Amino acid sequence: MQLGNWSFKIFSDGFFRLDGGASFGIVPKPMWEKRSPADERNRIKVALRCLLAEGHGHRVLIDTGIGDRWDAKQRDIYGMERRAGQLLTELDTAGIPRETITDVLLTHLHFDHAGGACLDLAGGMSPAFPEARWWVQRTHWDWAHNPSERDRTSFRLEDFEALADTGRLELVDGHVEILPELRVTPVGGHTPGMQLPEFHTEAGTLVFLADLIPSVAHIHLPWVAGFDLNPLLSLSEKRQLLSRAVEDDYLLVFQHDPVHEACRVAFAEGRFAARETMDLAAATQA
Ligand SMILES: [Zn+2]
Repeated sequence: MQLGNWSFKIFSDGFFRLDGGASFGIVPKPMWEKRSPADERNRIKVALRCLLAEGHGHRVLIDTGIGDRWDAKQRDIYGMERRAGQLLTELDTAGIPRETITDVLLTHLHFDHAGGACLDLAGGMSPAFPEARWWVQRTHWDWAHNPSERDRTSFRLEDFEALADTGRLELVDGHVEILPELRVTPVGGHTPGMQLPEFHTEAGTLVFLADLIPSVAHIHLPWVAGFDLNPLLSLSEKRQLLSRAVEDDYLLVFQHDPVHEACRVAFAEGRFAARETMDLAAATQA
């Protein structure tokens, strides 16, 4: 899918499952399960989608999936459906060896986003994309090293600690254009210093939603995940982003929706809703 000087492709690290109640916060189960059916352990299916963006001489990977370092018990708890090394294999099959990734943008360091950032190779953990620069918000890097008791289990230090020694860790402060036409927007409701990549091209804007709006169902403003540390901040950050998205007809890409890759949004009858959902490859320019 081409948008101005950037082209985009979705890659998958498989699926996993999360508690449905925690995923929809205060929304009652009879409402959310119509959108997202729960299994016998009350879990909903969650995609592990990554975005590859190529343009201006850069090959940028956005997030790295959940990775391979999980034992059988953990794979069962999280209902993982993925092949070992799935993301790297998918990239390789598409003619994109991991050495050719120039930049990795990590929206945040939760294990389902940074789990594939490093590989457990002989000699210890090392970056899965050895030539890449790694972009993380400084606020978030600091938080991930000192999280609260409430979100401590979302981080695994070994996922990202080796990045600090590469000399290619780029800690970002706030709203910055990190590459031509690629801006990051920090949002803090889910976790302090999560960043959303926004590609503002002459042919339109694409935003990767990470955990601000994990699925189509979460577009509706009050549907905020119980995982979010500051749900009222998430609410206002959703409102700000969705208002811009309606105004300029953004293409929005979902990281976690099990079915839909992307959508455009509308505001009608007092609420935001998907106007059109699509696979990214089928998206046309605005
Ligand atoms: Zn998260």
